[in-house]
Amino acid sequence: KSRRWDPKDSESKLLPIYQHKTKLIQAVSDSAFLIVTGETGSGKTTQLPQYLHQAGFCKDGKIGVTQPRRVAAITVAQRVAHEMQCTLGRDVGYQVRFDDCTSEDTVVKYMTDGCLLREILADPGLSQYSVIILDEVHERSLNTDILLGLLKKIFSNPAKATKGRAFPLRVVVMSATLETNKLSSFLGNCPVFVIPGRTFSVTCTFGTAIGPKDTESTAYVKEVVKMAFDVHTSERAGDILVFLTGQSEIEHACDLLFEKAESIDYRYDVQDQTVEGLLILPLYGSMPTDQQRQIFQPPPPRIRKCVVATNIAATSLTINGIKYIVDSGFVKQLNHNSRVGMDILEVVPISKSEAQQRAGRAGRTSAGKCFRIYTKEFWEKCMPEYTVPEIQRTSLSAVILTLKCLGIHDVIRFPYLDSPEERFILEALKQLYQFDAIDRRGRVTQLGEMMVEFPLHPGLTRAVLKTASLGCQDLLLPVAAMLSVENIFIRPGHPDKQKEADKKHRALAAKSGGMNDFATLLCVFQSCKSSDKPSVWCKENWIHWRALKSAFSVERQLCEILHRLQQKKDFPIETFDGNKSELFRRCLCSGYFTNVARRSVGKVFCTMDGHGSMVHIHPSSSLFDQEAELNWVIFHDVLVTSRVYIRTVCPIRYEWVKDLLPKLHEVDVFELSSVARE
Ligand code: ADP
Ligand code: MG
Repeated sequence: KSRRWDPKDSESKLLPIYQHKTKLIQAVSDSAFLIVTGETGSGKTTQLPQYLHQAGFCKDGKIGVTQPRRVAAITVAQRVAHEMQCTLGRDVGYQVRFDDCTSEDTVVKYMTDGCLLREILADPGLSQYSVIILDEVHERSLNTDILLGLLKKIFSNPAKATKGRAFPLRVVVMSATLETNKLSSFLGNCPVFVIPGRTFSVTCTFGTAIGPKDTESTAYVKEVVKMAFDVHTSERAGDILVFLTGQSEIEHACDLLFEKAESIDYRYDVQDQTVEGLLILPLYGSMPTDQQRQIFQPPPPRIRKCVVATNIAATSLTINGIKYIVDSGFVKQLNHNSRVGMDILEVVPISKSEAQQRAGRAGRTSAGKCFRIYTKEFWEKCMPEYTVPEIQRTSLSAVILTLKCLGIHDVIRFPYLDSPEERFILEALKQLYQFDAIDRRGRVTQLGEMMVEFPLHPGLTRAVLKTASLGCQDLLLPVAAMLSVENIFIRPGHPDKQKEADKKHRALAAKSGGMNDFATLLCVFQSCKSSDKPSVWCKENWIHWRALKSAFSVERQLCEILHRLQQKKDFPIETFDGNKSELFRRCLCSGYFTNVARRSVGKVFCTMDGHGSMVHIHPSSSLFDQEAELNWVIFHDVLVTSRVYIRTVCPIRYEWVKDLLPKLHEVDVFELSSVARE
């Protein structure tokens, strides 16, 4: 095959990893487990899989590379397909939840850690793979931690390792931090390959804007904008990377920054260099991938690039040319909230190690500067030394069900790199028992085996399966899909436009029969689907067309999963007489009985899950301001600000949950746990 010379080739030869190519390939061949560590940007993620591909590791099977973040899996696969000059989805592909871009030909597969976990369920020997690379292990995502334990359990015993396989599997664990002793001893003292990298000094300065009293304040958005603008107008040429918390904050900051940058006279000189403009680019998880690609392109001459990103730019993606960092000091993190007994996305101060990682992004190719908007006191008093691994701060029910389905009953003595607190494991067992996914002795039920097939929250899955046995899955599959994609209702910032959007959204709620947010979701889904021009319909109704398109695709995939289950298991069949609205809401109750609230006084509701939290209906709900007419409700999730809000709400009758509620209180956790210790 002839090949055109590609400038990218010479570029990749400049990466620190290149000099170690031969030794790395040898190291992977030599041992079952290998740890590879090196600074972010040294070429681990994009180059190592290509080296192994060239060395013939794909002869017997695929190379699978996991990423904790979905965007990282997609963009890196795009990049590697480009470098290997092949079409994405052929030799190089990716798979993330609800989006599979691979084919029969795919030999280098990037995927999220969650996807690999599902593959292990279907094929515990991972017989299709010759190499598994667990990437970004330092991030300590829940699924990556579980994969580490599982791969250790399955493949560290040579006798077991070849069961169901024609050849041994190679496992490579990659991390951006150099503290690998713990990891190596966890993996039976496996070898560690260090890619020495040059890093340049980064001067860090503390600010005055955010102090120890400001951990709950949202002022950091304005403050990072101010700081980024100062950098733009006073520092020499070089691009800026701003670390913020999430999509809405990032978009808001980009708007503010744009306004400011518009207001100045361009062509001004900064320390004898001419800067003629600012190119502002957002970067967050749910952004369309074609927009994400722009991030990597160098800006036009004399234009300064400013990327406003979530933590994804800390280690998962490396942007070249960054010389300045503006650090907000905050991150959006999923945490188990004991006040409401649920996992909630919260904005919290980052850890000191995270702040160092962020600063390091400015020193990859030359000396850089990092501007922290928080004070030294904030650093000392509010920022922990290290980030707590996800396994120690989020709900474990989904992964524990996966482990149980893999035949691992003793989930307390599973090899965890860092063990979660026992009460979190018990909490998960209790929840699985409440959903009938496991029985009193901790064994997986038939329902549990079906539930594990759905990449959804267990409660939602339970409700979907209920509708399926009643033959009315068309009611709930679209709702489950709508709840699995990003927000579908457009909320324009402008007050007049907001009024217009609210009016349309209220009309959609009324069309669905009113007073049921789940039914509104179904109505939006169906109305758009049956429209001749769905994108126009969305525009008219202030609905995000892109989100709805994903919902259509997710719904098809959920249908396929359900169809497969109905073919293979003796699927339960039930009947029901009553009207459709009642049927719909009763099915929801079968999964959401853990999220029941009863109105106590005025607009205040009290949850019935044993926590007895005081909650309010969120203003986005069609039930908002109708509280006086309500008594019992179920809800999909909560939002914690100064108050606890419940979102996606629907009224129910007490009789529908009467028999389910006692399950929330009568679980004998000790019985479940005694099995766990068996
Ligand atoms: P590591 O995994 O060690 O952090 P990577 O393999 O991700 O390093 O990155 C190596 C180089 O490839 C970096 O210089 C980075 O900027 C570049 N790179 C990665 N993805 C892309 C992309 N999508 N477009 C352009 N350059 C990219
Ligand atoms: Mg990487």
